[in-house]
Amino acid sequence: TGNLASTDPALFGAIKGELHRQQTEIELIASENIVSRAVLEAQGSVLTNKYAEGYPGRRYYGGCHFVDIAEDLAIERAKQLFGCAFANVQANSGSQANQSVLMALSKPGETILGMSLDAGGHLTHGAKPNLSGRWFDAVQYGLDTETGIIDYEEVERLAVEKKPRIIIAGGSAYSRIIDFARFRKIADAVGAYLWVDMAHFAGLVAGGQHPSPFPHAHVVTSTTHKTLRGPRGGLVLTNDEDIAKKINSAIFPGLQGGPLMHVIAGKAVAFGEALTPAFRAYAAAVVENAKVLAQTVREGGLDIVSGGTDTHLMLVDLRPKNLTGKSSENALGRAAITCNKNGVPNDPQKPTITSGIRLGTPAATTRGFGPQEFREVGQLIVEVLDGLRESNSDEGNARVEAAVKEKVLALTSRFPIYGQSA
Ligand code: PLP
Repeated sequence: TGNLASTDPALFGAIKGELHRQQTEIELIASENIVSRAVLEAQGSVLTNKYAEGYPGRRYYGGCHFVDIAEDLAIERAKQLFGCAFANVQANSGSQANQSVLMALSKPGETILGMSLDAGGHLTHGAKPNLSGRWFDAVQYGLDTETGIIDYEEVERLAVEKKPRIIIAGGSAYSRIIDFARFRKIADAVGAYLWVDMAHFAGLVAGGQHPSPFPHAHVVTSTTHKTLRGPRGGLVLTNDEDIAKKINSAIFPGLQGGPLMHVIAGKAVAFGEALTPAFRAYAAAVVENAKVLAQTVREGGLDIVSGGTDTHLMLVDLRPKNLTGKSSENALGRAAITCNKNGVPNDPQKPTITSGIRLGTPAATTRGFGPQEFREVGQLIVEVLDGLRESNSDEGNARVEAAVKEKVLALTSRFPIYGQSA
C-alpha cells in the first residue's frame, strides 16, 4: 500500500521530471506522441496482473473473461479502423510484430528485400545487426539520389535478380507516400509476399489522410504509439485467412508468452479514439502542419530531402548551413526543442554524427499547435541553427538559445498537457 511518491521517491522523481519535460519542451521526434488520459488509465490498470496466453475464447489460463472483452474490443476496432478482416493486437512492440511476419512467412536463410537503414528503412527490415539481417539473406534497396524518392526501378531489378520471399515497404524516415500498387506488382511478378510496415503513418491511414496499404499488401504491421497515438506496442493486419493463422501462431507461442493485457486495453482505447471525427481532423492537421514546418525551414535556408513531405515527418538536410545532425540536435535540445539526428541519403558523416535531423508534427499537433505555431517553431529552429553556425563550434550561441527557450516556454504553456499550469 501507499502511493509511488512515498514508497519510491527516487522513481517518482524521475516520472515527475519526465512529465515536466514533456510539458515544457516542443516534441518534434516523429515517432512520438502524447496519449490521452484514457489511454494512460487503461495502461495503468489492474489488467497488468493477468496472464492470458492464447487468444480470446481459447486461453491457457482461467479467469480471462474480462481481458477477453478488452482484447476483442481492440481487435474489432483495429479491423474497423483499417478496413481489414483480421488483426493481431498482441505484439509487444513494432519489432515483434515485424518478427512475426518473418516467422510466419519465411525461414532463416531465405531472401527478404527491404529499404536500407540509411535510406530511411527500419532495423527490422534487414539491417545487418538486427535478427532480420543476421538470420535472413537480406537485400536492401535505397532512394533515387536525385529525387529522394524510393528507387522503384532498383526495387524491381533486385526483386527479379534475388527472388525474395518477402518484399517490405515502409520506413522510419521516409516522408513521401509509397506507391503500394507498384510494390505489389513487383511482388506478384516474382511470387513474393508484400509486407507493408506502416508504423509511422498508421495514424494518417486511420484518419483518412494517407492511402491504405490494403488491398495491395498481403500483410501489414504497425506500431501503435506513433501517429496512431496509443500505448507503445505492435499490431499485425491481413485479409488472408491462411496468413492470419500463421501470424497468430508466430506471435504466440512462436515469439511471446503472456500478452500485455493492460497495453492491449490501452490499444483498444486508442483505436476507439482513432475512429472518431476528431481524430480525422487531428490527422489532417498533422499533415498540414508538417507542410508548414517544411516550408518554413526551407525558407530559412535548409534543404528537405525529396523537397517536402506528404506525411507527418521530414528529413532536414543541414549541409547548406554546414552543420551536423549531432550538434544541431544538441543545440535545439538546449533551446527545449527535441528532435533526433538522422542520416541523409549519401551522408558524408558517420551515423553517430550525420548531416540531418528528422522532424515530425504528431506530438505538438496533439497539444493543439496549428499552422501559426508551426511557422513559429520553424523560425525558432532556423534561429538556433544560424546561431550554431555563426558560433563556429558545437557550443552554439547561448544568448540565442536562451531567448528561443523562453519562446518555447511561452508556446508550450499556451497549449498545456496533463494538467500543466500556465
Ligand atoms: N517499424 C518502423 C517503420 C519503425 O519506425 C519502428 C520504430 O521505430 C518499428 C518498426 C519498431 O517499433 P518498436 O520500437 O516498437 O520496436
